[in-house]
Amino acid sequence: MNTPPNDAAIRKGKPPLVCYKVENLPFVDMPAINDARQHLEKTDEVIVAPRDAATFSVPAGHFFRINSVEGSQVGDLNLWNANNLNERFYSGKTRQLHATHVSTGDRLWSNLPHLRPLATITHDTLDWYGWDKDGGGVHDVIGTRCDPYTNHNLTDADYHYCCHSNLCRALADHLQKPISEIEHHVHDVMNVFMCTGFTLDTHQYFMKASPVRPGDYIEFLADVDLLGALSACPGGDCGSSHSDDATPCYPLKVEVFKPKQSIKGWIGTQLSGYDGSHGR
Ligand SMILES: [Zn+2]
Repeated sequence: MNTPPNDAAIRKGKPPLVCYKVENLPFVDMPAINDARQHLEKTDEVIVAPRDAATFSVPAGHFFRINSVEGSQVGDLNLWNANNLNERFYSGKTRQLHATHVSTGDRLWSNLPHLRPLATITHDTLDWYGWDKDGGGVHDVIGTRCDPYTNHNLTDADYHYCCHSNLCRALADHLQKPISEIEHHVHDVMNVFMCTGFTLDTHQYFMKASPVRPGDYIEFLADVDLLGALSACPGGDCGSSHSDDATPCYPLKVEVFKPKQSIKGWIGTQLSGYDGSHGR
């Protein structure tokens, strides 16, 4: 390691600035959304089997919930614009705009050049968790998803029920195409119910047993017509391992709801207003 310069303390002592002025983001009328979510009519329900994934569809202006049902279980969520799969959830920008972990009021943004909210979190029964003593939080947009490629590199073994593979099978079945034609659509996830952080000393990604219990749920408003896919991670509560069959694993339930009265003043979301010319 190099010797620190004489002014190292000054250089390291600058104050942090939050990068993005999120107060300038498009306004979310949470009171109007809360009014609408008081009277919901369930229109669909999908059970995601353990170590597997399933797709679901949510029209714009409708709500969906991801529920813990039988045991503490983490879910890996992908979202696409149902009318254009090239527009999809962008975990990196969502992380930069909101935080490493998301909860009520935060929005799930789509990739460039679209960059608009695909969904808004409207309720989270785990919002009490906040940040723990290790810097951990719930519902991360840090992690990618467990996948068989990383697992092979680390263990020299092939495991076929990582979240990436589960999401691939579910999307392939939905689109009725071979996995080789659709794998590129599977993207970095929102790790629903997963408790993660970075170690305070080495800043390495860590996980710990999820605090989720049956009856807990996280609820979203679909800001556009959505196709979703959810994997019940083979890591179960992700308190010990992942990418194997060692951990107890439970189903997750997705419910879709139509508000009995549409959200007052709600017009959906707009694509980014940038003209795409990039200086040319
Ligand atoms: Zn996983």
